[in-house]
Amino acid sequence: LSDRLGGVFDRLTKQGALSEDDVTAAMREVRVALLEADVSLPVARSFVKSVTAKATGAAVTKSITPGQQVVKIVHDELIKVLQGEDAPDALRIDNPPAPILMVGLQGSGKTTTTAKLAKRLKDREKKRVLMASLDTQRPAAMEQLAILGQQVGVDTLPIVPGENAVQIAKRAKQQATLGGYDVYMLDTAGRLHIDQVLMDEVQAVRDVANPRETLLVVDGLTGQDAVNVATEFDGKVGISGVVLTRMDGDGRGGAALSMRAVTGKPIRFVGLGEKMDAIEVFDAHRIAGRILGMGDIVALVEKAQEVLEVEQAERMMKRFQKGLFNMNDLKNQLEQMMKMGGMQSIMGMMPGMGKMAKQAEAAGFDDRALKRQIALINSMTKKERANPDLLQASRKKRIAAGAGMDVSELNKLLKMQKQMADTMKKLGKMGKGGMLKQAMR
Ligand code: GDP
Ligand code: MG
Repeated sequence: LSDRLGGVFDRLTKQGALSEDDVTAAMREVRVALLEADVSLPVARSFVKSVTAKATGAAVTKSITPGQQVVKIVHDELIKVLQGEDAPDALRIDNPPAPILMVGLQGSGKTTTTAKLAKRLKDREKKRVLMASLDTQRPAAMEQLAILGQQVGVDTLPIVPGENAVQIAKRAKQQATLGGYDVYMLDTAGRLHIDQVLMDEVQAVRDVANPRETLLVVDGLTGQDAVNVATEFDGKVGISGVVLTRMDGDGRGGAALSMRAVTGKPIRFVGLGEKMDAIEVFDAHRIAGRILGMGDIVALVEKAQEVLEVEQAERMMKRFQKGLFNMNDLKNQLEQMMKMGGMQSIMGMMPGMGKMAKQAEAAGFDDRALKRQIALINSMTKKERANPDLLQASRKKRIAAGAGMDVSELNKLLKMQKQMADTMKKLGKMGKGGMLKQAMR
């Protein structure tokens, strides 16, 4: 597959620009790749359609080939879909004891995942966790959880024979409250297939426990089926996220994309083996690479990305050397700072800016402040950004109001831009290829 894609992209490489035909040809292969990775047909179709629209006519950067450009667009889009915007990276476990409900088909890995997550919460977040098995279906299911509990050092609810799932859930809640636990996890019974009895039981448990998180555990190797299961569970029970197990196997992970696209629910964790620490937070980049099945090309894409950044930096450096520094440059810098985590790191690297960096630190340059400044710049017109000298009282009022802030904040921003522009001018005069160039390297 990698070869086939490589072939198409090679062909693209030899041509000058991204035409619609080029993109269509490449997308045909992408579609095959998706289907081979077990992405469902409708999802693959709509994905390809949206990417085609984005790729056609996309500007081709000088230093990367059109083929690389297509790959980059596909890869980025895949990550975007997989990641979503709402995916929380931690379990919501406020208001102790917080109930977590684990649901899914039999054999999907619920019990194993329950114990893995309990261990994580205990080890990493120092939470007191209680686990309870509600599986009255399989004879040894409760013992299985008890044994795993011992293994990972997490308490399990004592087994009382003859109780039904709802009774156990109530007892777990009581015990978790009395025992001062932070979290209690309810490991429900599965069935081989979705049926009414199972759904009724899970709904009843949900109503008793009122879970903070309802995690659907699905076997990542089951592809298509996993999507149906997810749709069903989400419709009947309502899920807050998905755990994909058996991602250590040779499945291609297409289920992840389908599930995300169809249910809109975030994939929160992936299971990577039978051991108790074989679980990781879902990483869209990794799965994207796996779905496309083209590690080399992805590596290439990442290099292309670097090239893009270098080009941008070089363009900026040229501007700075001329002593140019407008609001677009400032915005660029602010965004870089957010990426790099702080003023100090970026300004500290520039000569003559150490002092300013310290002032900025003192002024509390956190992400929030940066975001507010970027919002102010966003509320300027193109002309105003290019030439901040245009800003008189009425324009200032409009901009500040547009960003929901005071004019005083805008004034601060303007002062900062001026200072930086002045510094740039001075540095520019120090000569081409001088300190600034060195500093930017
Ligand atoms: P349940 O019926 O949903 O509770 O499933 P179990 O937790 O009992 O798991 C069924 C089997 O799958 C067990 O043998 C587990 O060790 C195995 N299993 C669970 N998660 C993973 C995983 O991420 N990778 C692998 N390779 N095996 C897993
Ligand atoms: Mg089980």
